[in-house]
Amino acid sequence: MQTIDRIYINGAFVTPHGEEMFDLFNPATESVIGRVRLADAKDARDAIAAAKRAFASFSRTGKRERIDMLKRMHAAIVAKEDELYEAIVDEYGAPVSRGRWMAQHASSVLLEAAKVLEGYEFTRRAGTAEVTMEPLGVAGLITPWNSNAGFICGKLAAALAAGCTAVIKPSEMSAIQTRIVTQALHAADLPPGVFNIVTGRGETVGAQISSHPDVAKLSFTGSTAVGKTILRTGADTLKRVTLELGGKSPVVVLDDADFDQIVPLAIQAGFMNSGQACIAGTRILVPQQRLAEFEARVRDEVARTQSGDPRDPRTTIGPMVSQKQWERVQRYIRIGIDEGARLIAGGEGRPDGLDAGWFVRPTVFTDVTNDMTIAREEIFGPVLSIIAYRDTEEAIAIANDTNYGLQAYVFSQDAKRARDVASRIVAGRVLVNTLAHEPAAPFGGFRQSGIGREYGTFGLEAFLEPKAVLGVL
Ligand code: NAD
Repeated sequence: MQTIDRIYINGAFVTPHGEEMFDLFNPATESVIGRVRLADAKDARDAIAAAKRAFASFSRTGKRERIDMLKRMHAAIVAKEDELYEAIVDEYGAPVSRGRWMAQHASSVLLEAAKVLEGYEFTRRAGTAEVTMEPLGVAGLITPWNSNAGFICGKLAAALAAGCTAVIKPSEMSAIQTRIVTQALHAADLPPGVFNIVTGRGETVGAQISSHPDVAKLSFTGSTAVGKTILRTGADTLKRVTLELGGKSPVVVLDDADFDQIVPLAIQAGFMNSGQACIAGTRILVPQQRLAEFEARVRDEVARTQSGDPRDPRTTIGPMVSQKQWERVQRYIRIGIDEGARLIAGGEGRPDGLDAGWFVRPTVFTDVTNDMTIAREEIFGPVLSIIAYRDTEEAIAIANDTNYGLQAYVFSQDAKRARDVASRIVAGRVLVNTLAHEPAAPFGGFRQSGIGREYGTFGLEAFLEPKAVLGVL
């Protein structure tokens, strides 16, 4: 049982002004494993003030200096990787294989940002003008629980690479992971105030950050509903906003796809991060004439998928992060049944043999139509929908018939066909016959999946604004 009673402001660990204590759980056992003292709006204001003071000199640092900082931060996170991994498994419930990747991802995003910065030209010419890309100011970074360390480090890396200073508000449910990340970043010895970390509630700390006039930029990852609130709140002071929100990603299985290869990929795409992934491929579009064959393969594949103890190396689906999340997923499974979709795997309740922990049965519905609730709303758990289509035109139409547009997957043996289909899908990223991430490529959504992009040059430029000086040679 650990107690976390410090936040990080102006280069120091300080006691928050806020006094509320919040329980931290191990979702695999439902037991309380820690308590965190939450920051409040005053703490947020102190953090913003520190970031504002630091911005004056940090914004004038050179590229080389900031690259060195990012490399020091990278080394510091690497040094804490094992500790972070343990916390990710205990506090988030990530299966061990996923947890290891998540712990590594947290450091790799810092190195990737250093690489982008290395190759980036801050000054260019436009006609007779000289254009410089200027850091926006204090950045408010608000992150969710489903990849806590990765989001903190990724957003911070881009903000600092650009020359912005930052106030970070991580999810209150990930305080143990946040403490480890904070300790690591502290060891990287950055100037005080350049980054500040205030764990607190969204309605208090998050709202203060999104309304404060001294915050110039907001970068938020989380639900579409909260993203809209943040956009509205930030509008008063015209904050620049990057929103990475939800998804209902289509997996388009073309009629020539090799099921031996792609059924395991489709299941992985759907169940990644225990289904708690904004990019999860949750609508699987399958040609009508091969539907029965596809369903049979899916049944076999899901039968081999273990949802349970995250410390068991055979587990690929860990618990849902909270009871609330577990209940939400159960509710959607019930809605799917009530709407007339047919279960071919899983269903309500816990997997056999488990009577504690927020575990969900890996669930796949078929006979789903794209107007059903389970095909339209983000469930954020291991619940997939198979939707049959007649021809490629209809597949593309169904893929695009959604409020979201974050990611899509296309599976086919014919690279040209797959590319043609990919070109017609409205999504920030389309993965063709792969699940691999590309850190240099932009990431973000069309439509209600968000605004703006992260990663690579696009991610860096989200923290910059062009300034043109005319009349100089
Ligand atoms: P959430 O939107 O409830 O919370 C995200 C963060 O926002 C948390 O830190 C929360 O405290 C804060 N917050 C809540 N209310 C706020 C307010 N009024 N003002 C400011 N901040 C506020 O999301 P969650 O439950 O933590 O995460 C799950 C959701 O995040 C899913 O919907 C998922 O799709 C989305 N998500 C998106 C991406 C992406 O990159 N697009 C990645 C991961 C998660």
